[in-house]
Amino acid sequence: MSTRNLDPRAPWVISTHDLGRRPGSMRKTTRTLPAPADLSVDLIGVPKDADVELDIRLEAVMEGVLVTGTASVPLSGECARCLDPLSSEIEVGFQELFFYTAEDAGEEDSLLDGDLLDLEPTFRDAVVLALPLSPVCREGCPGLCTECGVKLAEAGSGHRHEQVDARWAALRDLVKDDKQDTQDR
Ligand SMILES: [Zn+2]
Ligand SMILES: [Zn+2]
Repeated sequence: MSTRNLDPRAPWVISTHDLGRRPGSMRKTTRTLPAPADLSVDLIGVPKDADVELDIRLEAVMEGVLVTGTASVPLSGECARCLDPLSSEIEVGFQELFFYTAEDAGEEDSLLDGDLLDLEPTFRDAVVLALPLSPVCREGCPGLCTECGVKLAEAGSGHRHEQVDARWAALRDLVKDDKQDTQDR
């Protein structure tokens, strides 16, 4: 639960002033906001300051303001299979009730600071849950050869390595040692 003072000029701080705290009053808005920093998982994330397109509905209810929205979020990262750079976009939905007073709210709940609310933590949570853990550059990307690391999409379907049976490999090493012994003598 956050009770910090919000900066009305911060991009993700939104005023609910014109709802007038009348339950039932509602307002829809669209915004383009710069993506906050450090919004990524291992291989993929949202580039800082990239344009995030938001569709938001603000609704006054008894205890506070209910915010429902969707966001189009640009992503960049690398393919989990072939490691090529990739960029894409995801749609995320979110909903959060911002309480007027701390008495009504629980520990984890969000609070309004006067007429202001900070949408960034809500947006952040929604995006982190939606980020793909294994992003791929395209459906069915064949990835890299596990033997030599060559990119299989470029090497072609004929790419393969001579399979050496582990038992033969051991035998081959024995023969080598044997030759060495003979040379030493
Ligand atoms: Zn790939
Ligand atoms: Zn190979």
